Amino acid sequence: MSDPALEAKLEVKQASKEVKESENVAEKYSAMTVSKNSEMNMGDLSPAFTAVPTHKPVKKQIQFVVDNQEFSRFPTKAGRRSLSRSISQSSTDSYSSAASYTDSSDDETSPRDKTQVNSKGSSDFCVKNIKQAEFGRREIEIAEQDMCALISLRKRAQSDKPLAGAKIVGCTHITAQTAVLIETLVALGAQCRWTACNIYSTQNEVAAALSENGVAVFAWKGESEDDFWWCIDRCVNTEGWQPNMILDDGGDLTHWMYKKYPNVFKKISGIVEESVTGVHRLYQLSKAGKLCVPAMNVNDSVTKQKFDNLYCCRESILDGLKRTTDVMFGGKQVVVCGYGEVGKGCCAALKALGAIVYVTEIDPICALQACMDGFRVVKLNEVIRQVDVIITCTGNKNVVTRDQLDRMKNGSIVCNMGHSNTEIDVASLRTPELTWERVRSQVDHVIWPDGKRVILLAEGRLLNLSCSTVPTFVLSITATTQALALIELYNAPEGRYKQDVYLLPKKMDEYVASLHLATFDAHLTELSEEQAKYLGLNKNGPFKPNYYRYGSTL
Ligand code: NAD
Repeated sequence: MSDPALEAKLEVKQASKEVKESENVAEKYSAMTVSKNSEMNMGDLSPAFTAVPTHKPVKKQIQFVVDNQEFSRFPTKAGRRSLSRSISQSSTDSYSSAASYTDSSDDETSPRDKTQVNSKGSSDFCVKNIKQAEFGRREIEIAEQDMCALISLRKRAQSDKPLAGAKIVGCTHITAQTAVLIETLVALGAQCRWTACNIYSTQNEVAAALSENGVAVFAWKGESEDDFWWCIDRCVNTEGWQPNMILDDGGDLTHWMYKKYPNVFKKISGIVEESVTGVHRLYQLSKAGKLCVPAMNVNDSVTKQKFDNLYCCRESILDGLKRTTDVMFGGKQVVVCGYGEVGKGCCAALKALGAIVYVTEIDPICALQACMDGFRVVKLNEVIRQVDVIITCTGNKNVVTRDQLDRMKNGSIVCNMGHSNTEIDVASLRTPELTWERVRSQVDHVIWPDGKRVILLAEGRLLNLSCSTVPTFVLSITATTQALALIELYNAPEGRYKQDVYLLPKKMDEYVASLHLATFDAHLTELSEEQAKYLGLNKNGPFKPNYYRYGSTL
């Protein structure tokens, strides 16, 4: 019988052996000290990443647009409206307004119908209003203040220009935080063309600031379906510029290139993908033997999943609910559906404010965690008549059905924190007997014939990203991981990465975390030689085997 402890030690020893045999570029930038007090010698980073297909369960089926879509530069408004092609769900379902502070509702003209030029005379972009650039710049500067680790990576690496020659085409939410990432990539030598992964999430002023700064951005808040694919196409399909790297969030850009520009796609050096959905698509391609490019799964890296999902939601759930409803949480009965990372974050925040929190789960392990954390695990039907708030966090569909909405009490609030708008059966509420009343931006009262009102937030889309802002610091962790993954993939010697999906090595995760410790003036304990030997570890990490799960920290 195998001894897991021994296996772990062997695995770590093997890893440290391989470290010496390979030298990746990210190692180089990892060799920086974090702070005087939390100094960490990262000069011995892990080897080339290991292909570990995780094959996470699919939560929904994505329907892609037809492959031979053609665009006109100036389609008619009617033409845009009548488009019946399906848009990727991820593009519409994840977040919405993302707190764009400029009100451009007075300007109804589509950016595609405008000719805009930045101060350097370039018109290679398409944003809502280039004149908002100055305001967007201030937004970016504010974000920079809480993204110190990414900025320090930028400073350290910019003289070397590890991304010189990289032509990165990106499809992410275009917010101040992403702008800091994009400008970091540019500082490291990359040329970037960017588009939005979501039709609602673009901060127009930030898109303008990026365009003013020479990044070819094609995105604005409130794109139509046709606009969405047009923007992606304009990013990829431009004369005299051929991308060689992809940074994607949701997989739409990857899919578009794979289908429409197979010859360009084949020449890509690497794909970095952030989302569950996009990663799943990559694994599907890989399984079918159709992935001809190495890809990095950032979604499943510890520094994404255990931080973005958990802490981002713990910090923003209350903000989203307060801004929209002014609700008081003390003594309120709340049911949180799903006790994964997002659910754990939401429950912790609600409990701290004195709410009575129930949890629903399908997974006995997560259910047991909820019990041990002090939450009552129930079936939704058991509490549906009494709860004041329902929050879905499952990534699943039809978690809250029409029948259950019918039984909720007057004044109850329903919202979703999961990626897609499939969790609450919102479509079932669009029936003639129910009246919808828009009471605030992103807040609808759905009124039953007997006068009962249910408060539906963001039409069932991601609450925090639709109705509040999200903490910049957490996004810095994900962005730093993305930047390192791009540097590594771009600079890797031929053969290090095959046509497969790779996870970030533990050492890289540890490095990203260490960079962020400085903010807290955290003082890491160093292993002594004796202790390192005793544990079978390299003094400089990795400190945990790959199967280590980093339990709930709440
Ligand atoms: P997860 O897989 O860790 O957790 C989801 C949980 O839901 C699992 O424990 C699962 O067992 C449970 N579940 C599934 N179906 C259920 C059902 N019918 N009833 C009750 N429980 C059910 O995933 P996660 O990291 O917590 O992410 C959840 C969703 O939130 C995903 O869609 C993810 O993309 C999204 N997300 C949102 C944000 C945000 O800022 N709002 C951030 C990260 C992730």
